Amino acid sequence: MQALGTKFIRFLLLILFSCLVLPSVSLGQDATPPQLAAENGYMDLGAIDWSNHLIRLDGDWSLIWGSLVPPEQWHSGIARVSHLPHSWSSMLGSSSDMPGQGVASYRLQLSGLSDRERMGLYIPEISTAFRLFANRQLVASGGVVSENLDEIKAYSGDQWALLPASVGGKVTLVLQVANAKHFSGGAWQSLTLGKASNIAERFNRMLVYEGVVAGLMLIMALLLLLEFAVDTRDRAGLWLGLFACVLGLRISISSHGALYWLFDFNFPWEWHIRLVYITMLLTPVFFFGWLRSCYPRDIHRRTLVILSIPYLASALLCLALEIAWFTALLHIFSLLILASVLIGSGWLLRALVRKRKGAWFLTLGLLCPAVAVVHDVLLVNREVQGEPWMYGGLVVFVLAQSINFLMFRVWQRRQIESLSRQLTQANRELEIRVSERTQDLKDKAEALQNANAQLQVLANIDALTGLLNRRAFIEQMKQLTGLHSQVAMLWIDLDKFKEVNDNFGHAAGDEVLRQFGALLRSLRRGQDRMGRLGGEEFALLLVDCDLDGAQRFVHRLFECLKDLQFTEWPEIEAVTASVGISVGSLRHDRWEELMSAADHAMYEVKHSGRNGFRVA
Ligand code: GH3
Ligand code: MG
Ligand code: MG
Repeated sequence: MQALGTKFIRFLLLILFSCLVLPSVSLGQDATPPQLAAENGYMDLGAIDWSNHLIRLDGDWSLIWGSLVPPEQWHSGIARVSHLPHSWSSMLGSSSDMPGQGVASYRLQLSGLSDRERMGLYIPEISTAFRLFANRQLVASGGVVSENLDEIKAYSGDQWALLPASVGGKVTLVLQVANAKHFSGGAWQSLTLGKASNIAERFNRMLVYEGVVAGLMLIMALLLLLEFAVDTRDRAGLWLGLFACVLGLRISISSHGALYWLFDFNFPWEWHIRLVYITMLLTPVFFFGWLRSCYPRDIHRRTLVILSIPYLASALLCLALEIAWFTALLHIFSLLILASVLIGSGWLLRALVRKRKGAWFLTLGLLCPAVAVVHDVLLVNREVQGEPWMYGGLVVFVLAQSINFLMFRVWQRRQIESLSRQLTQANRELEIRVSERTQDLKDKAEALQNANAQLQVLANIDALTGLLNRRAFIEQMKQLTGLHSQVAMLWIDLDKFKEVNDNFGHAAGDEVLRQFGALLRSLRRGQDRMGRLGGEEFALLLVDCDLDGAQRFVHRLFECLKDLQFTEWPEIEAVTASVGISVGSLRHDRWEELMSAADHAMYEVKHSGRNGFRVA
């Protein structure tokens, strides 16, 4: 929906600009009625309403080739007739017998003017030197006119001239033209006659119009080039900026030369004409570059380079060659420009067919200069009236493209923002998941540790008595090897235990073992180790214990044994045990020896009637 909105705004802007820029310059203008033309050096303007009309003085003027005839020396016999606007030697090679360089004098006799009305004449740039006389008075000139070709100096820029009051409604115009440098000379653009105020107004309006159009172009160029300077990875801004720059420069120096006028700058004509050609020839190169940056998948870099070569080479020629040489190539340059339009249109058509982003908008934008060209062709052929639209068409196109380009940048930025938002969100979710997984792993590791610890306990502890099992006890002995303190090893075997099993059952035997284990544990001090070696045999290692201590321990044990009671099996008689004691130090004695000694001592007790102890 939003995209549709922006598209709509863009199209609206495009149409608005087209409506504003294209015809604005023509408002209130009304050119020559088609049927009016000079004939045989005469033009009758009696029927013209000068408040509304500007009249192009086209048609057959009298011409004297080869000399600059002063108005007072003109007599009709020596003149021939030439159609204006006209170049001496046409660009496309007419059968003209006049060479490009030389001088000529034109004359047109106007009648039917009002003696009270002050008239003005609009003289467009004809890129050669000229002098214009009205009723023998010099009213306008450009450059230096001379029959000596070396002295001729050309000029640039449109002019307008105030004509002297007509005498009997008649004004005789004599136009002297001198061309030394340009390939072709002559009054090749139409002179326009009108009320002096209308002509002046038209001149000023055109000047402002061209200034505004050129200014717009140059401002856009500046913005686009700045955009490129900020982010040089994308060359779209560079190409469109350069395109706008050369167009802006071209417009600002053409016709009125708004740029020169603004800075009151007298640019040498030679360099002016070179600049006009070079800017014209560079425009397609930047246009191609811009199109390629729009559709990089459709246009190869190599194609761009190859296509640019003829234009760049031509621009170089315009820099290096004499003016007469490169102006002679104008028709080739025109063909190159035409080719660039065809190539650009082809690319654009392909982009349209392939439904590339922005292709429609670009095409619509290009339609503006295209419409302007058609309009201007019709204008030359007097099918329509007014002023050329070309500059307006170009400025609308560049404006539309700049808007398109900036919109694209905005879209890109939004895209980046949205992606970075998504990335941040994804990161956050990832962090949460990672921390969950970490916690999970921690829990599992803890559970595993607990299970390991339990397993350790189960592997080392005898389930029935809660004492060390045989393997763990022996392991402890090994670990305690080298202990400094004195120790007592006790080997205990319950007396006639088998009878308990036989008489009261295995469960009763188990209960006896369980209670005996609990009793031993209750007697245990911090460092002591106690293990069930198997069946009803137990071994104790009493740490920091001498023989006396061991004996006291055994006495206490025997005392406690007497008190054991088995609630389920009250018939079980008092449990007794045989105990063997060995005393030593794990540093000097091997624990196996201590155990074996205690074992032997215990057996001796067995043999001597049980329920007692013996020291090894
Ligand atoms: P003595 O006084 O000579 O030591 O005679 P005794 O009956 O205690 O010795 P003997 O070695 O003949 O018998 C030991 C008995 O202990 C044999 C076995 O059935 C019993 N026994 C061994 N382990 C267990 C046990 O875990 N639970 C029970 N209930 N009985 C066990
Ligand atoms: Mg035994
Ligand atoms: Mg026994």
